[in-house]
Amino acid sequence: MPLRPYIVGNWKMHGTRAMLSEARAIDRAAQRHMKVEVAIAPPYTLIHPVHREAEQIAVGAQDCHHEEGGAHTGDISAAMIADAGGKFVILGHSERRQNHKEADAQIKLKADAALTAGLRVILCCGESEKTRDDGNAVAHVKKQLKASLPQFSDNPEDVVEKLTVAYEPIWAIGTGKTATIDDIGDMHAEIRALLIKVYGEEHGSEVRILYGGSVKPENAGEILSTPEVGGALVGGASLTADSFMGIALAAGESEEG
Ligand code: PEP
Repeated sequence: MPLRPYIVGNWKMHGTRAMLSEARAIDRAAQRHMKVEVAIAPPYTLIHPVHREAEQIAVGAQDCHHEEGGAHTGDISAAMIADAGGKFVILGHSERRQNHKEADAQIKLKADAALTAGLRVILCCGESEKTRDDGNAVAHVKKQLKASLPQFSDNPEDVVEKLTVAYEPIWAIGTGKTATIDDIGDMHAEIRALLIKVYGEEHGSEVRILYGGSVKPENAGEILSTPEVGGALVGGASLTADSFMGIALAAGESEEG
């Protein structure tokens, strides 16, 4: 059975308790749009407050450490996220890769730790503008993804039921630029082929592949109707219930065909 479109908000380093009212409004709206699965990843400090109040949406984190605990000042483990009510974690976001020099091998360790803690994982990949201009986008994204997929279990079923991939061209994040529909479709087809190669036809077809990069209510309908686009990872437009749920609504409509 095809999975519902998955619309995930990445609040990045935005949000104090004053923003809980937006989370509540998103949750209320999500209860009216059950054809779409809606989730938000606020800063760590808001995971538990959102979890306590939300009835419909899932709450998750934007990163985790790969170890369960220890002398890692300032870090948070996957088990701590789960303890706070988090249900998933975004890993390998390009801002983590750039600002914290995270490499594929480290992201793979984090993904394994997250699955071990019972979290779902949204694994991000994407190319820079230069890589795309040089004609190397597909090769780059496939290499990045292959090197960061979790090992967790030899049984693909254990991994794919908790795994989502997000394709986010770096040059489209927060810039207002989006990839063309053809480029999105081509990249998602390549990612699907890779997932099938790794996990087999049955399981590799089950993983949702999200698109991320300046998704807004105005462009969501077209992007979300593209083959192999199973939802969206949304930054800026997820900060208000109005714009975020505008995207969820478009996702529901694209489902109806
Ligand atoms: C993101 O940060 O994952 C993202 C897609 O941001 P934006 O929607 O603002 O481009």
